[in-house]
Amino acid sequence: MDDRLKTLFEGWIDAHFDEMVEEIKNIVRIPSVSRYDEPGAPYGRECLRALRHYIALAGRFGLDARSVDDRCAEAGALTDDENAIALWCHLDVVPVDDTWKYTRPFEPIILGDYLIGRGGDDNKGPAIACLYLLRMFKELGVKTRHPLRACVGTDEEKHMGDVKHYALTRPTAKLNIVADSGFPVCFAEKGIIEADIAAKQPVSLLKGFSAGTASNIVPAKAEAVIDIAEGLEGGERVSMSSDGALTRVTASGIPAHSANPSAGLNAIKLLTEKLLALQGLTESDRRTLEFFDAVNDGCSGDALGIASSDEVSGNTTCAGTMARMTDDGRPVLHVNIRACVSADCNALAESMKQKCLENGCEIIALEINEGNFFPPEKPVVNELTKLFNELSGLDKKPYAMGGGTYARKLPNAIAYGLGGLPKPETDLFEPGHGGAHQADEALYLPNLKKAMLILALSVLKADEVTQ
Ligand SMILES: [Zn+2]
Repeated sequence: MDDRLKTLFEGWIDAHFDEMVEEIKNIVRIPSVSRYDEPGAPYGRECLRALRHYIALAGRFGLDARSVDDRCAEAGALTDDENAIALWCHLDVVPVDDTWKYTRPFEPIILGDYLIGRGGDDNKGPAIACLYLLRMFKELGVKTRHPLRACVGTDEEKHMGDVKHYALTRPTAKLNIVADSGFPVCFAEKGIIEADIAAKQPVSLLKGFSAGTASNIVPAKAEAVIDIAEGLEGGERVSMSSDGALTRVTASGIPAHSANPSAGLNAIKLLTEKLLALQGLTESDRRTLEFFDAVNDGCSGDALGIASSDEVSGNTTCAGTMARMTDDGRPVLHVNIRACVSADCNALAESMKQKCLENGCEIIALEINEGNFFPPEKPVVNELTKLFNELSGLDKKPYAMGGGTYARKLPNAIAYGLGGLPKPETDLFEPGHGGAHQADEALYLPNLKKAMLILALSVLKADEVTQ
């Protein structure tokens, strides 16, 4: 590593850090949850506004920047595509709820060393840091052998249609580094299966069934409306209220990212457990509720016949993350599954269909999202990991994960940072708060500063070892 360059970068980052934090706040103020129902904006007006804001900022830094069909944006060196190294982030965010404690989700604040606001950590902070990285290279006259660019999309949290479109319409970069994960190098991502499991028959006493805000969040809240409440009592995490004929049963869990469902407490599981105590359930009602309950039992997907694991990526995980009723009154459980990299997602989906049929249910919607595998023997994997360990003083290995990043939609892609640096303990956040996808999403600013330096030196290393 070049110590002179390291010192130079440190000085530049220090001098521009406060300004960069202000820019992160500015873009967090745009409520860019992607949606598909606003004409003229592929992922909605707010996502388009975020893209334009990003392009304008790049322009202010004297960087070339452009929109890619209003789905993505790119800045930096925009020629010689096949030879490029691209840094990827996303500007869309997951939806919000009303349980934020310190501020409203799109009104970012600084609290101690934290920036609190939706998307600050995932992934607008890193997106702005990558843009500042390009600016730093430009202002300090740092040259790379490969053209270097920063790219952002606006449909990451939902369907990654942004980057699918990009990969179809633009030549592939030689190396894509996705800065939407944890250091060091993530070379493999589990496959993702999302499915809506519907009961074939209505559950007779269930008049309402709802939970969840996004496929990839273990829900904090689940609710059922029933017309017979005999045998039911509220409990620690389950409350009941009645308005005459109908009773509302509300379960409160602890949210978590669906790639790591055992970190949360699934509100749908709490609810189905409670509903199974009802007297007067018909056999078919019981069967459906027992199946939904079993699907959420233990996070392994055992009840769906998909339990599996491998050395590289660990266990397949399964979480019911949303619930609803169909128009004809049948309850639906949405599941989000992360399949170990060696599993064949289509084969798992077949097992799921079979298990659903055996339990009086059917799959009415299915989306399969194959994983990512970047050959770990390529030099960039070990070189970046080594450099990260040297700069952080940690001793980490390249890894595989259940999280899904753009890496799975791009050829020649790894995920790298900007998370994964140790943070001090804090009692600012209650359980289920403060993380990505959670209420009070918080970006720990001292780590962002370190991460930006690590990324800058890593980009130079990647430039050196990529042929
Ligand atoms: Zn993200």
